[in-house]
Amino acid sequence: MIKRERVADNVFSFQSEVYAQVTAGAVIGPNWALVIDTLAMPEESLEIRSFIEQEIQVPIRYLINTHYHADHTWGNCFFPGATIIGHTLCREWLNTRGRASLEEARKQSNIYRQVKIVLPHMTFSQGGLSLRVGKKTISLHPLPGHSGDNLSVLIEEDRVLFAGDVFMSLPYIVDGNADELVASLKKISKMGLENVIQGHGDIVLRGEIDGAIKDNLAYLSAIRKFVRRSARRKFPQDMLADMTVEEAGKSRVLIGGLADSLHQRNLRALYEHMYGKLPQASEDEYDEDYEDEFEGEDEEVG
Ligand SMILES: [Zn+2]
Repeated sequence: MIKRERVADNVFSFQSEVYAQVTAGAVIGPNWALVIDTLAMPEESLEIRSFIEQEIQVPIRYLINTHYHADHTWGNCFFPGATIIGHTLCREWLNTRGRASLEEARKQSNIYRQVKIVLPHMTFSQGGLSLRVGKKTISLHPLPGHSGDNLSVLIEEDRVLFAGDVFMSLPYIVDGNADELVASLKKISKMGLENVIQGHGDIVLRGEIDGAIKDNLAYLSAIRKFVRRSARRKFPQDMLADMTVEEAGKSRVLIGGLADSLHQRNLRALYEHMYGKLPQASEDEYDEDYEDEFEGEDEEVG
C-alpha cells in the first residue's frame, strides 16, 4: 500500500499508492525513531509504524506534523507513544477545521471510524527547532505558502529536506498564499540540498531541484497572468474553466491524476484572493451578449 525508499543512512521516505502520492518519512536512531507525517489512511500509518517498531525494532519517540491537513495528521492517533510536534497554527487548525472535516469524512466513509484527532503536544511559530536523532541533526522551520502552518524538516548532515506541501509536483495554494509560496520555493533553492521529499510526488534529486523549482515558479506565474486576464471578462469563471493544467505547463497525470482538478481549484482560489468573490458562470446567468463579450479581448495584461 505504501512505497518505501531509503533516502540516506537511516532516513526513509514513504509514499502512498492510494491517495495523491502523499509522502511521509522517518529518521532512525540507535534507540528510537522520529516520524515525519502519517499519510492519509489508517492502514498506511500502521504500516509505517510496524516497519519501524517490528522490522527495525526501535520505538517511535517523536512525530512531526508538517501541517494540519488530513493526509498528514489523521494518523497521529496510531502513534500513541510519540510526542507530536507542529506549528502553533497546525495545533489550532487541526483542533477546529480538522475536527470538522473528520466529522464530514466519517459520514462518507467507514475508513475513518477508528481515527481520532490528536493535537501536537509541542508547538512553535517563529525561528526554528532542532532535534538530535543519533548522529543526525533535524531542524524544523516554518515554510508557508501551501498553508500558513507548513513546517520544513531538514536532515542537516544529509542535506535532505522533507518540505511538506510547500513543495509538490503541482503547487497547491487553495488554503495558502501564492506570494508566500514563491518566497518559500526561492528559499529552498538556496539551501544546497541533496534530495527534496515533496509533500506529494516523487523524490526530487539534487540535479533536478533547480528545474523543479523553476517549473513550479513558472506555473504560479502562468496562473497569475491568466487570472488577471480573466478578471477583465464578464464571466471570468468560464475563462478559468477553459485553462487546462497543460496550458499552465504541467501534466495532468501529476498527483495521482488529480492535477487538473487541483489546478482548477487553484485558479478559482487565486481569483478570489486577488479580486474577491468569483462571479457566477455564464450558464447560471446566460444572456444574449455572452458571445460578443468573448470576442476581440485577447490581449495580454500584466
Ligand atoms: Zn497534503
